[in-house]
Amino acid sequence: MNIALEEHFIVPCLVDYLEKAMPKVSPAAHDKLLAELAGFGEMRISAMDAGGVSLAVLSISGPGVQVEPDAAVAIKLAQQANDLLATEVHRRRDRYAGFAHLAMQDPAAAADELERSVRDLGFVGAMVNGHTNGIYLDDPRYEPFWERMQALDVPLYIHPADSYVLPYALKGCDELLKPTWEWTTETSTHFLRLLFAGVFDRYPRLKIILGHMGETLPFMLWRLDSRAAFIYGGRPLAQPPSVYLKRNLYVTTSGQCSDVPLIAALTALGEDHVLFSIDYPYEDSGVARRFIETARISNAVRDKVGRLNAAGLMRLPRRRG
Ligand code: MN
Repeated sequence: MNIALEEHFIVPCLVDYLEKAMPKVSPAAHDKLLAELAGFGEMRISAMDAGGVSLAVLSISGPGVQVEPDAAVAIKLAQQANDLLATEVHRRRDRYAGFAHLAMQDPAAAADELERSVRDLGFVGAMVNGHTNGIYLDDPRYEPFWERMQALDVPLYIHPADSYVLPYALKGCDELLKPTWEWTTETSTHFLRLLFAGVFDRYPRLKIILGHMGETLPFMLWRLDSRAAFIYGGRPLAQPPSVYLKRNLYVTTSGQCSDVPLIAALTALGEDHVLFSIDYPYEDSGVARRFIETARISNAVRDKVGRLNAAGLMRLPRRRG
C-alpha cells in the first residue's frame, strides 16, 4: 500500500477562497468535489482504498488564505484550519497525516505556525499555494521562514495557483488556463526563482516538493545548466542549476499517470526523489493505482516511489503492507 501526499480537503472557513479559484466544471461535478473535500469519513477512506493508499497526507484545497489581503485574518484562519485538520488526523492516525496551511503574508507568523504545526500538531511539513498576492518565496522577506523550515527539517510542497497577472501569452486562449498549462509554468517558474535567487545555497538542506511530475522541470536540467552558463551576469550560484534540482527538489506523480514523464523524472532526479500521489478528489484514484502498479519500472523502484521515499522524506513510521 502507498503513501500519497497531494490529497486535499476543505474546511467551512476556507470554502469561499476555493470557490473563487476552482476551474469551471459542471454544477454536478462541483457539488461532488465539495462533498469529497469536506468529508473525512467513509467516502475519503474508500477512495484511498481504491487508490491503494494506506496513508494520505492531507492539505487544504487551494488557494486558501494565501489570497486573503488582510494578514491578520489570514493568520487566524490558517490556525483554525490547522487545528481542524489536527483533530481529524488524530481521529485516524492510521490513515491520515497533515501538511500545515500557512499565512505567508507574514513570514514570521508563518514560521511560528509551521513550528506549532510540526511540534504540537504532529504535521509532517507544509503546503503553500504559489505566490502570495504576487510575492514569491524568493523574496528576501522569507529568509527567516527558510531558516526555520530547514531547522525543522520538514518538506514544503509548492502547489499550483493562478497567476497574479495573466501572462500575455495566455490571453485569448482560455483552454490553456489553470491546470491544463497555466499552473505548470507558474509553479515551475516559482521553483526556479528560488534556485536562481540562491535560496538553496543559503539553505542547502531545504526539501521542496512539486506535484504533476515536477511541472516539466525534470526535462530541463541540461538546458538550464547550458543556458545559465551562457548568459552573462546575474546572481552567482555555487553550483550549476541541475545540482539543486537533483538535491533540493522532490516531485510527485499527482495528475500525471504516464510512464514517459515518470521515467524521465526518475532518470533526471534519481529514484529517491519521485513520490506517488493522486490529487484527491480532482484525479481518479483507480487510474492512479493502476498506473503505478503497471508502470515500466522495477518493483524495487515501485516500492520507493509508492511509499519508501515518502516515509523517508517525512520520517514517517514504516507501515505494513
Ligand atoms: Mn492539487
